[in-house]
Amino acid sequence: MPEPRRAPGAQVPAAVTAVGLRKSYGAKTVLDGVDLRIPAGSVFALLGPNGAGKTTVVKILSTLIKPDGGQAQVAGHDLATAPDGVRAAVGVTGQFSAVDGLITGEENMRLMADLNHLAKREGRRVTAELLERFDLVEAAKKPASTYSGGMKRRLDIAMTLVGSPRIIFLDEPTTGLDPRSRHNMWRIIRDLVAGGVTVLLTTQYLDEADQLADRIAVLHGGRIVAEGTAEELKRQIPGGYVRLRFTDPEAYRSAAAALPAATADHEGLFLQIPSDGSQRDLRAVLDRLDAAGVEAPELTVHTPDLDDVFFALTGGTTPATQPEEAVR
Ligand code: ADP
Repeated sequence: MPEPRRAPGAQVPAAVTAVGLRKSYGAKTVLDGVDLRIPAGSVFALLGPNGAGKTTVVKILSTLIKPDGGQAQVAGHDLATAPDGVRAAVGVTGQFSAVDGLITGEENMRLMADLNHLAKREGRRVTAELLERFDLVEAAKKPASTYSGGMKRRLDIAMTLVGSPRIIFLDEPTTGLDPRSRHNMWRIIRDLVAGGVTVLLTTQYLDEADQLADRIAVLHGGRIVAEGTAEELKRQIPGGYVRLRFTDPEAYRSAAAALPAATADHEGLFLQIPSDGSQRDLRAVLDRLDAAGVEAPELTVHTPDLDDVFFALTGGTTPATQPEEAVR
């Protein structure tokens, strides 16, 4: 049964909570106090570049490795005192895939059914249903080593679902997939959540987090440096602007004089005015241009996207924040 949708802000029970997770390898601190709260029935994206520690978080939360410090509850079970409860509630797929390439897709599924102690007949039923659902019926009798990247990921998820987990950890589910398989995977993830499952997804892709996640946490320097909905994160940083492009240098100079807040590109005849992208802001810009008697042949509005947020948080720069020559 799908869980009921709640109004934003209403108290949704947590599927996963973690406080102060720490992990080091030798002298290298990978996690330096990670806190997480993942509402049940949602998609939560843990976003970070390669090497940020995303897989380490997933391994800890699925009991594959122990943290050096901190605590976590997964599906109400404490990681340290009830690891079996955690393991029974979660399914993990991703970089450390369980797919065995030497046996067929169907055999992989049956093996999973046995591991989950399903009765023979029930195992066959679940296997057939999942192979069908993930479009693997035709490939079912072929060795998994012959599968494409997208097929392997689908088989991996299908195997995870044999145990009917309430929480699924997907570690970089679309890394290395072609665009079609990637969109296919996004559809699968949306379907899982529509069925009431909680998904913790790790990704290096901002657009993936933006597309799929109800909430996003940015992992950087071993800590969560920001957490919220995509919209909340975008609101945290400036970076919106109106950009005007001119072809006539005379009009460009008049506009620059009329818009003293703009940064300017004299070569390209661009003016860029900080803006929240609202109608009021736009009107103010246009009124000034009207008053100066100039018309811009091209006007574009840029509102901050997750790229801007990510780079602002992790210390990179974007075209919107790179210094340009000021007009004043
Ligand atoms: P991500 O999933 O974000 O790419 P990982 O969690 O895989 O990052 O790795 C984070 C860091 O921890 C990396 O620098 C990686 O080299 C290091 N690391 C991961 N596992 C081990 C290990 N078993 N021994 C030593 N270093 C490790």
